[in-house]
Amino acid sequence: MKLKKMLAMVAAGVLALGLLTGCGGGGEQKTGDNKPAATETKKMLDTIKERGKLVAGVKYDVPLFGIMNTQTNQVEGFEIDLMRELAKKIFNDPGKVDLVKVESKTRIPMLQNGQVDIVAGTMTITEERKKQVDFTDVYFEAGQSLLVKKGSPVKSVEDLKGKKVSTVQGSTSAKNIREKASEAQVVEFPTYPEAFLALQNGRADAMTTDNSILMGFAQKDANTQMVGGLFTAEPYGMAFQKGQEEWVQFVNEWLKEIRANGTYAELYKKWFKEEPPK
Ligand code: GLU
Repeated sequence: MKLKKMLAMVAAGVLALGLLTGCGGGGEQKTGDNKPAATETKKMLDTIKERGKLVAGVKYDVPLFGIMNTQTNQVEGFEIDLMRELAKKIFNDPGKVDLVKVESKTRIPMLQNGQVDIVAGTMTITEERKKQVDFTDVYFEAGQSLLVKKGSPVKSVEDLKGKKVSTVQGSTSAKNIREKASEAQVVEFPTYPEAFLALQNGRADAMTTDNSILMGFAQKDANTQMVGGLFTAEPYGMAFQKGQEEWVQFVNEWLKEIRANGTYAELYKKWFKEEPPK
């Protein structure tokens, strides 16, 4: 009787310890609770394989990452190449991917509606977004900055008081700039080329978003320049509908693989003309 009670207490203690430590949040610890999700997930990768192609949500409006080339009528960029690599991993064929256009505002609903299997679209991992979608590990590090016309009096966020600043709907950039420059007038557009045009034709005094995106636009117009340094951290993750742990894990494993075998560095250099940061 006494021994039994003691054993029960030990068992309870072990259980409590397990709960407290959380066992590092490893996927295998969750199998009991997450059985339906795990089954769902298995189906996701199977669904992709059975369908015979990956459906990837990508940007058509961001130079260097995902932009429509009107000459070739092809979308191109770093994230486009990454999605072709992922298709190669799944099907042994980089052509087996549908590159579906997403915009900053539409990417989360499109994931939630099941219109795309994955989003690779300059998307910052944030706590708020994690409530709606799941993310891979970070695959690109950016930070928010400003683009202005050369000779502009705007040299940093402090100079935006009473000025018009263009950005894009549904972006962290739109949210952050309201916090960093509360007295600026924020003008939001659906896409980045529209926000850039507003700067070019003087409807905005500055454009704000990630430095990685502004860099691509600055390359298109020698009369513009980036100023003010970085005032946020924008780590990019690929995003998924919630509850697809195995699919996310598969993509994370693949990301590790392409970092290890040099593919990531090769693509990074192709688009950004420099070595990826360590
Ligand atoms: N990385 C930022 C974001 O996720 C800005 C770029 C974008 O709009 O995709 O909102």
